[in-house]
Amino acid sequence: MTEDRDVTASTSRCGDVAVLVPAAGRGERLGPGVPKALRELAGVPLLAHAVGRLAAAPSVGHVVVAVPPGATESVAELLTPVVSGYGVGLDLVVGGAERQESVARALAAVPDRYPIVLVHDAARAFAPPELVERVAAAVRAGGDAVVPVLPVVDTIKRVDADGAVTGTVDRSVLRAVQTPQGFRRAVLAAAHRTDSDGGATDDAGLVERMGGRVVTVPGAEAALKITRPFDLRVAALLVEPDAG
Ligand code: C5P
Repeated sequence: MTEDRDVTASTSRCGDVAVLVPAAGRGERLGPGVPKALRELAGVPLLAHAVGRLAAAPSVGHVVVAVPPGATESVAELLTPVVSGYGVGLDLVVGGAERQESVARALAAVPDRYPIVLVHDAARAFAPPELVERVAAAVRAGGDAVVPVLPVVDTIKRVDADGAVTGTVDRSVLRAVQTPQGFRRAVLAAAHRTDSDGGATDDAGLVERMGGRVVTVPGAEAALKITRPFDLRVAALLVEPDAG
């Protein structure tokens, strides 16, 4: 891939965490226009909001972003000033057709010295640095994989093909899963090697299927996933640095 870029290889701070940011999706549910990660909020692309918060977490030494084809130069220009103030290294890779392929390509670009790898969707642009630290700490404490979760507040029903209700699920045993998700690097690499069908929406799911131990930590409301136009309006409330 000639477009891949090693942007700031020599400037890493001594954290033990590298973060992969799959940002190569089109984000069609947000409406027509530029890829979702490059949509702006308060004049700043979501990807820059996301990477700025990741780089502010003291454990993070390196960020690898999977970008849409053709976007490498513009993303390098966008993100280099965002990470360099923190001494965080940055690599860009061209994303694949599926999210899982984008993650695999980003993982292959992580420098050897990082034993912990987090995977974070650019669409969760306002995940706070404290959440990043919480996930990293739980990986250090021994989880194969760590997911931040929130309780499910809505009542959840099962429905049939016609939309008729067939049952009510006990929500006390359910959790809504966010990113960043954290992994011992070797575990994530093995999960991607053994499960390469490309369809996973969640990296911890690959570890589950491998029989690994996935643990939870409390998530953060501010780490909401920006998927639809309404979510952008909610996220606008979080642009203030101290919000959320
Ligand atoms: O489509 P969805 O919202 O689940 O995508 C989650 C994340 O994965 C987004 O940040 C998106 O940019 C990224 N993605 C990717 N490569 C793809 C598809 C999605 O990096 N081929």
